[in-house]
Amino acid sequence: MARIQFLGAARHVTGSRHLLSVAGGNVLLDCGLVQGPRRLSDVANRELGLHPQQVDAVVLSHAHIDHSGALPRLVKLGYRGAIHCTDATADLLELLLPDSANIQAENAKFLEKHGKPVTPPPYEIADVERTLDQLVRHAYHAPFEVLGGVRCEFLEAGHILGSAIVDLRCDENGRALHVVFTGDLGRRGYPILRDPDPIPPCDVLLTESTYGDRVHEPAADVERALEQAIHDAEARGGRILVPAFSVGRTQNLLYALGRLQRAGRIPEIPIWVDSPLSTRATRVVAAHRELFDKEARRILADGHDPLLVSGLRFVSTPEESKALNFERRGLILSASGMCEAGRILHHLAVSVGREQDLVLAVGFMARGTLGRKLVDGYDTVPILGERYHVRCEVRTVGGMSAHADKNDLLAAIGPLAGKVRRVFVVHGEEDAACHFADALRDVGFAHVDVPVQGQLEEV
Ligand SMILES: [Zn+2]
Repeated sequence: MARIQFLGAARHVTGSRHLLSVAGGNVLLDCGLVQGPRRLSDVANRELGLHPQQVDAVVLSHAHIDHSGALPRLVKLGYRGAIHCTDATADLLELLLPDSANIQAENAKFLEKHGKPVTPPPYEIADVERTLDQLVRHAYHAPFEVLGGVRCEFLEAGHILGSAIVDLRCDENGRALHVVFTGDLGRRGYPILRDPDPIPPCDVLLTESTYGDRVHEPAADVERALEQAIHDAEARGGRILVPAFSVGRTQNLLYALGRLQRAGRIPEIPIWVDSPLSTRATRVVAAHRELFDKEARRILADGHDPLLVSGLRFVSTPEESKALNFERRGLILSASGMCEAGRILHHLAVSVGREQDLVLAVGFMARGTLGRKLVDGYDTVPILGERYHVRCEVRTVGGMSAHADKNDLLAAIGPLAGKVRRVFVVHGEEDAACHFADALRDVGFAHVDVPVQGQLEEV
């Protein structure tokens, strides 16, 4: 009898890991890092909830660290098998996994310096290198054998470059078992990326539910908000800081800026991408033109590069980055997205005290982060160990999420009512996951579960 064990992202959004056991062997779907309070994540990222000997193959939905970031730990613990992913996902992992190892090493150093108890990081750069060697690249829509009796096909998920819906067809001693895992699902009409492929009818569906209880603002407002911000900052002689995640959000902003420029809606201003990771991620996205949607291809056909904006410079050295302290106008795109680390911090230290400057919050800011404090309108904020009065304007631009919202999820999955035997709702906080499970029951799905951490189900 086939089984699935939910080892992570069960009533939770990080640490995506699900172990599918079929006649051909055990397939681990995703091996993500648990993010959040150290006391919870430390153990979860060290122990993984399984023995590496149990895993015969890994299939990865996409490169985000909460889906891929524990792979080097699995390898460190002894896993030597294949890690199947799309070609673009492998390219992104070459940036993101070393970055993850560095962040963990720095965290450990920081704790040690401050006399706090330190556990060694779950993995080091050597483990990352070994992991990268175990990646097996695949094209979309090109079925391949994962194990004897288990075939896999990657469908477009439209969430970030390389993201895939995982379609698994298993032979259970003569009985066919069709399992589909949405990974993280994107949105129709999202910039640069192709729309998600339809989810096929199947026996067992694992669906994400990050925004299973919410509806996003319409995406068209983003360009208008960006246009307005640039006009306002120019009129008062200030500059704009945009904290943005390196993969996805940074490229979407460049794409939107290019569209505004070509339409003559914004003046030409200096634009800097000031994050080495963002620069490299932008190069990876630009190199995968074969994955662009129709509009991005049309821009290419018209002789433009959809990610190259006039006035754009990629800042490389720390000295060049510091030199931006003297720039009074223009737009600086920098990481990290929630203002927790990275070069955005020294730009904020310069700008928060200036009334004419504008901080544009374009992504989700988790509770407790500097980004959240700015969005929540704190009078003073700590930056790099000092307190600063906030005099700049902080504006939030919604609608840029790369996740399907409740309506998108229902549009993608609803039509499968009666054509899917069992649904497991994963990758959502408890409220969102349970709300979405109810919504699926309402449209006619008979057997919907919201598994808890560690739950084992026969399918
Ligand atoms: Zn994701």
